[in-house]
Amino acid sequence: MSKYTDSSKKLLKFIEESPTCFHAVANLAEMLKKAGFCELKETDKYKVAKGGKYFVTRNDSSILAFVVPKTKVQGYHISAAHSDSPCFKIKENPEIVAENHYIKLNVEKYGGMIDSPWLDRPLSVAGRVVCKVKNKWLTKLVNIKKDLLIIPNLAIHMDREINKGKEYNAQTDLAPLYALGSEAGSFMELIAKGAGVKAEEIYGHDLFLYPRTAGGFLGPNDEMIYSPRLDDLHSAYGCMVGLINAEPKDYINVCVVFDNEEIGSGTKQGADSTFLEDNLRRIEIALEGDAEDLTRKIAGSFLISSDNAHAVHPNHPEKADPTNRPFLNGGIVIKYHGSLKYATDAVSAAKMKDWCKKAKVPFQTYHNRSDLPGGSTLGNISTAHVSIDSVDIGLPQLAMHSCLETAGTEDVYNLIEAMKSFYSE
Ligand code: ZN
Repeated sequence: MSKYTDSSKKLLKFIEESPTCFHAVANLAEMLKKAGFCELKETDKYKVAKGGKYFVTRNDSSILAFVVPKTKVQGYHISAAHSDSPCFKIKENPEIVAENHYIKLNVEKYGGMIDSPWLDRPLSVAGRVVCKVKNKWLTKLVNIKKDLLIIPNLAIHMDREINKGKEYNAQTDLAPLYALGSEAGSFMELIAKGAGVKAEEIYGHDLFLYPRTAGGFLGPNDEMIYSPRLDDLHSAYGCMVGLINAEPKDYINVCVVFDNEEIGSGTKQGADSTFLEDNLRRIEIALEGDAEDLTRKIAGSFLISSDNAHAVHPNHPEKADPTNRPFLNGGIVIKYHGSLKYATDAVSAAKMKDWCKKAKVPFQTYHNRSDLPGGSTLGNISTAHVSIDSVDIGLPQLAMHSCLETAGTEDVYNLIEAMKSFYSE
């Protein structure tokens, strides 16, 4: 097995075991603990030592890990990615009985997904429940590891226009079928059983649908991978593995994975929150620095925001910019935007290219076509809170925000190596 397939196999396993942001953060925390990182709690006083490795979570859906070098520190080397992906969220009182025969679930959209791939494929449910057990509050992860639900299309005989482009109504067209008549009232019982509690002990839930199809390899030489949630667990995994495997020199290395990028980042645990700035300040205080020390260090710091990028589409090459054309397995994509929706500028791009060259990994460039608006990402949102030199990068992929996305087998290895080079400076 090549170094590329080995890295991608581990990535696909991580994504399969991370059907929601809560699972992704729990699995990243597990990886960090195995690598000797100590957990800090935001509610406790931070004790941080030179040479130490730590992590902290917020809302169980965002995580920040950091490594303090033994030497004098010049600043922070930070990478950022996101833990959430577009999907369906289950509402309160989820069961809908239809025709006295079907039980459907009442769901709403989380983020901007492509709807149609979610239909006619096995789905299941995962997330977290908040329970009161023997007068104690507990949060439990739940993942119903079985083919449980399906969102059936209407037959072509009843919708002759379906292949002319269909707009799905989120309330009426996209409700997943859960069970047949006699199972009414059983859904929350099933969730309780999955969480190892009683249904009446569940006081709150954040539950999401996920596609049951696990990721795998494609092409005669396994040169591509497909998986749900490549945006942005591909980057979250690559950045965190890079952090774990690097030896810090003159910078405190930080990797932060934020929740809620897909809905605009404006939550207490999103990139538009104080999660990063609170933690940088507290690390500085714990190392006996003051506000002046922190401001000076931030002025000499750097942020790599990594969120997946659009590769040139094989059937729609005209959608890509004429001179900046990223391809799968072409390496790290450096993203540019004239109005700086991507934070990249000449200085930060130059540094990123140098880290890629030192790591001996390829890089490529992305602009939106000048007549397409494109999306936004974490970089410019988080630098509004912690203002430092930043570059927006990503790994090339196809079908972003579909429930199965496609990428190149080599690129997660490329990201890990580039991050190791950044973190070892
Ligand atoms: Zn993303």
